[in-house]
Amino acid sequence: MNGPSRPKRIDAFLRWIGGVTGRGAQRSFRLRLAIQTILAATTISIGISFVRFYRAAAAGQLPLPQRPPGAEGFLPISGVMGLIDWAYTGRLNTIHPAATILVITAILLSLLLRKSFCSWICPIGFLSELLARAGRAVFGRNWRLWRWLDVLLRGVKYLLMIFFLWSILAMGRLGLAAFIESPYNRVSDLKMGLFFAHLSLTALAILVILAVGSMFVQGFWCRYFCPYGALLGIFSFLSPTRVVRDPARCTDCGLCDQVCMARLPVSRSRKVINAECTGCLDCLAVCPVGDTLTVRTAGRRWKPVQFAVAVFLIFILMYLGARSLGWWNNSITDQEYIERVQQLNTDIYRHTGP
Ligand code: SF4
Ligand code: SF4
Repeated sequence: MNGPSRPKRIDAFLRWIGGVTGRGAQRSFRLRLAIQTILAATTISIGISFVRFYRAAAAGQLPLPQRPPGAEGFLPISGVMGLIDWAYTGRLNTIHPAATILVITAILLSLLLRKSFCSWICPIGFLSELLARAGRAVFGRNWRLWRWLDVLLRGVKYLLMIFFLWSILAMGRLGLAAFIESPYNRVSDLKMGLFFAHLSLTALAILVILAVGSMFVQGFWCRYFCPYGALLGIFSFLSPTRVVRDPARCTDCGLCDQVCMARLPVSRSRKVINAECTGCLDCLAVCPVGDTLTVRTAGRRWKPVQFAVAVFLIFILMYLGARSLGWWNNSITDQEYIERVQQLNTDIYRHTGP
């Protein structure tokens, strides 16, 4: 139960933000919210620094302010290309190394702690959750698509993932290396920034559909269309970590099913072994009977706090490790950025890869 001394407004806020009530609107849920908020704030700060960097480059101001390498988190395909190129050559590319490190971090987290990258780290996942909660606040509920449509749409993200992987692999070792060094890829972060700064009507319409869809259907983007989530789901399926239910304690109240963002039948499972499980631990947080749901890796039980700390630590240690090894900042000079920024709209920077 929530502590009697906690102001009602905070309780109401927690209920709205989490949709989680009962004994565990508690630690794991609040920790997840805290980590998501910190990382979302970091993402916004990265965005502001990136705009400052672009403006200085466009104005030709030397020296340029520091370009935030974390912006490469929005280049997941570049990150996957970097990973495959690394496997081919044994060397990490120096154009978007942070993108590759972030992809490796997400894969590592998925292998160890299910798709925790999606529910604890990813700012788009967080935004998607907030939109679903806003939908519940406005309409009183979220909706579920018909089962046949749900299954059909869930396949879309896997098709997108296969398309991107196939396109990258079809380039071959030399083609991939040439693309990574190409003028387009060297400024693909800037192109991505400009894409969002000057949205076309079509792109804007797609974003609005995704945002409104996320208010009606929880996880509309993540569940149906995110190819990155599909890739992480495959690694997550191999993870030895899973939510375990003790049927002897379970009262079949069904609360865990109601809060599960992946819509898994937790209350009917002995172990949750499913590529869609994000390791959010909301099912543990909401379960009214202590120790009925636990999260375990190869049988070893995690306290939710330990799980949260592990997710955050792996993410931070990967970042710090990459920085200390020189695998975070890229090798493009300020002078090169200034020269290329002036020509961003020319044919040299037209997209040619996947
Ligand atoms: S089963 Fe539990 S941990 Fe997995 S997605 Fe559902 S609520 Fe989250
Ligand atoms: S596991 Fe917990 S929340 Fe889920 S049905 Fe059983 S008692 Fe209810």
